[in-house]
Amino acid sequence: MTVRVRFAPSPTGRLHVGNVRTALVNWLYARAHGGVFVLRLDDTDSERSTQAFADGIETDLTWLGLGWDDFMRQSDRFDRYDAAAAALRASGRLYPCYETAEELDLKRKLQLAQRKPPVYDRAALKLTDADRAAYEAKGLKPHWRFKLDEGSRVTWRDLVHGEPSVDMQSLSDPVLIRADGTYLYTLPSVLDDIDLSITHVMRGEDHVTNTAVQIQIFEALGAKVPAFAHFSLLTGAEGEGLSKRTGALSVAEMREDGIEAMAILSLLARLGTADPVEPRVSHADLIAGFDVSRFGRSAAKFDPEELRNLNAKLLHVLPFESVAGELRALGLEAADEAFWAVVRPNLKTIKDARVWWQVVEGPLTPVVSDADFMRTAADLLPPEPWDSETWKQWTTAVKDKTGAKGKALFLPLRLALTGLEHGPELNVLLPLIGRKRALERLS
Ligand code: GLU
Repeated sequence: MTVRVRFAPSPTGRLHVGNVRTALVNWLYARAHGGVFVLRLDDTDSERSTQAFADGIETDLTWLGLGWDDFMRQSDRFDRYDAAAAALRASGRLYPCYETAEELDLKRKLQLAQRKPPVYDRAALKLTDADRAAYEAKGLKPHWRFKLDEGSRVTWRDLVHGEPSVDMQSLSDPVLIRADGTYLYTLPSVLDDIDLSITHVMRGEDHVTNTAVQIQIFEALGAKVPAFAHFSLLTGAEGEGLSKRTGALSVAEMREDGIEAMAILSLLARLGTADPVEPRVSHADLIAGFDVSRFGRSAAKFDPEELRNLNAKLLHVLPFESVAGELRALGLEAADEAFWAVVRPNLKTIKDARVWWQVVEGPLTPVVSDADFMRTAADLLPPEPWDSETWKQWTTAVKDKTGAKGKALFLPLRLALTGLEHGPELNVLLPLIGRKRALERLS
């Protein structure tokens, strides 16, 4: 059996960390099992779905390196949904209801007052043809509910969640089609999963109840039920819910902030597992370390600070080849391997490389408080070629001549050469700056 999984975002906003985790886990599962990863756009909501968001999702997934092997969009498939709805009507599993929202609300309130669960009472099942004709004559259009099985519980083996069991008596027959004829997500998702031969549905645990309902829809359509995995939801550092609307955690914004795709993926591949979060430099590395059974049921906390720290750690180990393109995109076309090796321990994001490029290449305003001292130091600069020993030779000579030592020796030289109090080790930075620029800055 070939593993076939899907990531099914709604193009009603940009991807945020929560979606990316779902995408990543599905992608990793496919790649780890030689399977197929499908991108499915859940765009039945034509008012909120936009092509711009759909494009944004593709851009974000591509930037993250989570390529897809197959693609489907729900708005192309209404004929298929209509045909399946007709079949469910014919088998008596989809029935028309005419209650208004106010009537349903009133029913619920009455049930709650009587300490009964607020479950739809299936009154519409008792309507006669004449009743229905009367509603239609009044201009009312029905919404359509799926008739759940009488059985009391739906249980399945979940790759993450053990053996969830949903009490179906506590659920109302779900509305699959609204009165205006539009589909809610529930039925299209099942039909897509059937037609795409999805073997594993992996998604957030907010879908556990949907799963119980959808299992019954798979069965009602005579289709094989896929395996399921439900991941605990990502929460904020304080346990609060994350949402697209918070915006701050969209992929687009993280990218703008200079966060590496591999940092995001390294973190999300581990949140919710007991395994340590470590920087992974490549997708192959992530695939090798992936095991869906490592995911647990406790909430996974996403902390932007942890992401920033991981991003810095990742940069410190990334080889030049991995960042050459990003450096070019920052306008540092001439930045080479030697430059990268010197500056990467000082970066929080790749954008910081610009600061150090400027330090190396100039122009730069040196900070000089003692001009005489700098003149002396300038006179003692050794001739080129320079290497990582030059700094030591030079500062020893300056120390012998001026008597300055320790911080009083090193800090003024650093300030003159770089304009900054901190930065990469000067023994490796100085050769990059070179004698000509060093001389200018000291004078
Ligand atoms: N569009 C749904 C969502 O984003 C998909 C859920 C699913 O994976 O079935 O929640």
